[in-house]
Amino acid sequence: MKRGRQVGSSGIDLPDDQHIREVEEEGYKYLGILQLDKTLNTKMKGKITSEYVRRVKKLCRSKLNGGNMISGINTWAVSVVRYSAGIVDWTVEELVSMDRRTRKIMAMNGCMHTRSNVARLYLPRKEGGRGLISIEECVNKESKSLHGYLRETTEWMLQAALKEKVLDEEETFQDYQKRRQEEKIRNWKEKHLHGEFVRQTAYVAGEDSWRWLRNGFLKKETEGLILAAQEQALRTNSIKHSIDKTSVTPLCILCGDSTETVRHIISGCKKLAQGEYRKRHDKVALRVHWEICRKYRIECTDKWYDHQPLAVAENRDARITWDKTVYTDKRLNHNRPDITLLRRDTQEWTLIDIAVPADQSIINTEEEKMAKYQELAFEIKRIHRASKVTVIPIVIGALGTTSKNAKTWHGKLALPDIVGSAQLSAILGTAHILRKVLCF
Ligand SMILES: [Zn+2]
Repeated sequence: MKRGRQVGSSGIDLPDDQHIREVEEEGYKYLGILQLDKTLNTKMKGKITSEYVRRVKKLCRSKLNGGNMISGINTWAVSVVRYSAGIVDWTVEELVSMDRRTRKIMAMNGCMHTRSNVARLYLPRKEGGRGLISIEECVNKESKSLHGYLRETTEWMLQAALKEKVLDEEETFQDYQKRRQEEKIRNWKEKHLHGEFVRQTAYVAGEDSWRWLRNGFLKKETEGLILAAQEQALRTNSIKHSIDKTSVTPLCILCGDSTETVRHIISGCKKLAQGEYRKRHDKVALRVHWEICRKYRIECTDKWYDHQPLAVAENRDARITWDKTVYTDKRLNHNRPDITLLRRDTQEWTLIDIAVPADQSIINTEEEKMAKYQELAFEIKRIHRASKVTVIPIVIGALGTTSKNAKTWHGKLALPDIVGSAQLSAILGTAHILRKVLCF
């Protein structure tokens, strides 16, 4: 180096007969970071950013499902930047803009709605988020954890590095993590429109409500659509009218009677009740029926969606009916549960009825169903000498909310992961309805 500039040389001979070659023009790499007489920050930043963006694009254009796409970004793309944390001097703006670009790429590829909540994207899936790692947060965390390491070390050289303020952090890793988490939850749940759904369902929602997100099986586009529907980010007539202030009527395009909100489209429109809602309901019921047939070893297809339920399916162990009236001496108003199951060995009856209502009213629907079939249960016990009759309502919110009681009800059926599969069927039905009505 001469006056801070690199000059040409043929390399340097060392006393032990080794030869150091001339450093290439763009510097040499030390632990993967380009250096010359100092770390080449600008050059490294450019390289890292473009590699990160390249990887994010590749993943967003892939056919991966929602869960795998996000974990792909987290492991394969974010790691490119993570490695440079605490070494390359990133500014906040540079990091924030990388996050912005990620969201833009996601939106352009249909993985995220442009008006969807940003904070929620970065919350863990088990808490209702999508579990993406934010670049800003990742670099800050790495830097704080390196600083924490320096503070604890007993090595004199590292202690000297701490004194030199190579890294300077005031907040500890744990405090930072906690603070960011709380901020994100606030930025989502306290927002007027974005948070309304979670606020309204908080009292009825059970722990399995986010199971579909945790599993991440949905296509990334469908995942984005359902989250946007929960956040009222979709442009329904009601939103166009009151938020976008366009001259459009706020009324439903199909029935023209009620305000066209997401809730109305997915669970309240009388024009959809017999067709689309019925189809969605039947898909959930079909899944449950198939699972029960399998449990009692009644012949059925390998794949649930090929399943063709018989009105009466039976073998030595059990008898299962599908959408069939149970005749009793007394005329009853409600005598046709979706599915009935009779176990021959114990003479136990189970009456199963399925519904996919608005998420806010799942507990009410459950109670209604329980009340509706009490009389039938009583009659069956009397006429058929059943040892026990259990009524099980399988109620899933149209946007996937499962009730607090779901575990108890479904536990009685003792079917493996019936909650998750019923939830998935309900959500897919809803996504179909939303696409149809809002013309995606
Ligand atoms: Zn309508």
